[in-house]
Amino acid sequence: MKCTLCPRKCGADREKGLGACGVGDKIRVAKIMLHHWEEPSISGTRGSGAIFFSGCPLKCVYCQNREISHGGHGEEITVAQLAEAMLSLQAQGAHNINLVSPTQYSDKIKQAIDLIRDELEIPVVYNTGGYEDAEQIAGLRGYVDIFLTDIKYFSSEASKKYSSARDYFEMASHALDEMLKIAPECVFDEHGIMRGGVIIRHLVLPTLRADSIRVLETVAERIDISKIRLSLMSQYTPDFCDEHYRELKRKITTFEYQSVVDKATRLGYEGYIQEKSSASAKYTPEFRREENED
Ligand code: SF4
Repeated sequence: MKCTLCPRKCGADREKGLGACGVGDKIRVAKIMLHHWEEPSISGTRGSGAIFFSGCPLKCVYCQNREISHGGHGEEITVAQLAEAMLSLQAQGAHNINLVSPTQYSDKIKQAIDLIRDELEIPVVYNTGGYEDAEQIAGLRGYVDIFLTDIKYFSSEASKKYSSARDYFEMASHALDEMLKIAPECVFDEHGIMRGGVIIRHLVLPTLRADSIRVLETVAERIDISKIRLSLMSQYTPDFCDEHYRELKRKITTFEYQSVVDKATRLGYEGYIQEKSSASAKYTPEFRREENED
């Protein structure tokens, strides 16, 4: 069967070979763990139950998880084993099931959730690079509670150059519309842990400050941003980027990052801002805080 799970619609027969995302028909998983460095409302105090899937439809040139996303590093598991892994994370106290780079396995993920529907009590997070087919996202109704989606670029030149996806913003925007139909409001429990909603993540890249601002402005024009949370990330490190992209071979400056933070604040976004000084993924809850987010 020809695969059309992501906007590449490369049509690969994954039973016979690999798709453009680098993986075949079998689920490959690189890591299953309690993850403590996601946004505070996702990681909480006990951690997010992260399942890192191998392969990726985007394969950005600066990817920090290159071995997993580009190289397909990981172990093969069955749908039943994936379902067991979710229950095991739940038993370990995870606040949620965090599906990291799930796009290329979304059909199998739904099969796994169907197997344990009666036992799975924690929310399911769909943690994606944002390059998604809107129809596939619509099909996640009843399976996913929280969408943690990147919106990486506005410029089609940048998305073509760094992620081979000229139509990235268009696809990510339409996907976002579908996510908001499924999770129209951010819902938190009494401890500030997210139970449902959409978080838009944006990593500020060197030289692309103006594009980051266009992303923020355009999203704010398209949707009611009071319904989502924004997560701004400063953690870009040049170490993983190919020498060929010389403009990306440096960290972002304080000016670049702060100007994007200032714009987000002026536009009225609520959410999280990663510490500029942090090489690791530390967050300080910022912008305007929710009364129940503490
Ligand atoms: S998920 Fe992979 S195989 Fe399927 S269309 Fe996208 S790139 Fe091709």
